[in-house]
Amino acid sequence: MAAQETVRIAPCSGHAIELDTGDELVVIDPMGQQVSDLTAFARDDTREYLSSGRSIDYASRYLLTTGDTLYSNRSTPMFTILEDTCGRHDFTLTPCSKTMFEKLYGEKQGRPGCEGNLASALAPYGIDVDRIPVAFNIFMHVTFDADGKVAVLPPLSRPGDHVRLRAEMPLIVAMTACSAGQSNNFSYKPIDFRIERRGTRPHGDRVPAAAASV
Ligand SMILES: [Zn+2]
Repeated sequence: MAAQETVRIAPCSGHAIELDTGDELVVIDPMGQQVSDLTAFARDDTREYLSSGRSIDYASRYLLTTGDTLYSNRSTPMFTILEDTCGRHDFTLTPCSKTMFEKLYGEKQGRPGCEGNLASALAPYGIDVDRIPVAFNIFMHVTFDADGKVAVLPPLSRPGDHVRLRAEMPLIVAMTACSAGQSNNFSYKPIDFRIERRGTRPHGDRVPAAAASV
């Protein structure tokens, strides 16, 4: 494994990357209490996407952590969670969006939110806003009481907490530094990430397939 440089996602923005099978993605909350919505599509066929419903169904739990698998809508493993220093994430709520800010937060002109930022990051891959599914909301702290009432609480993540995900297929991945006040204890902070590539040179350059077999 060769680690690439840590990249910072600015507050209230999104970023897309590509992973090969076996690559590891480390998503880091550098300052604490900051959510990152993450979604993924199969590189070979973007009709296959990261599925909240399948992942929760197969895990038989809605709180996923180290050792759990995140599945696609076609029931194929997309990620394995290798490390999780926070232990509390959400996989049930949709990404914050322009309309959500107008409906729930009373903003006159809603900001793009994670939905818009994921869509912008994925636009070069031909994936538009109507295809953004329920994301894996890393560090998001959502509770459900016995009556079914949902609450969004400040994240439990502390500075430096991280989640390490191994790609189980070639993926396009998009992630954000979330724009919703309630999800982030009302301060908008960055998110950091790092990719640890399988089959890379020591300095982190990708090895072309032809060179890799020499
Ligand atoms: Zn958000």
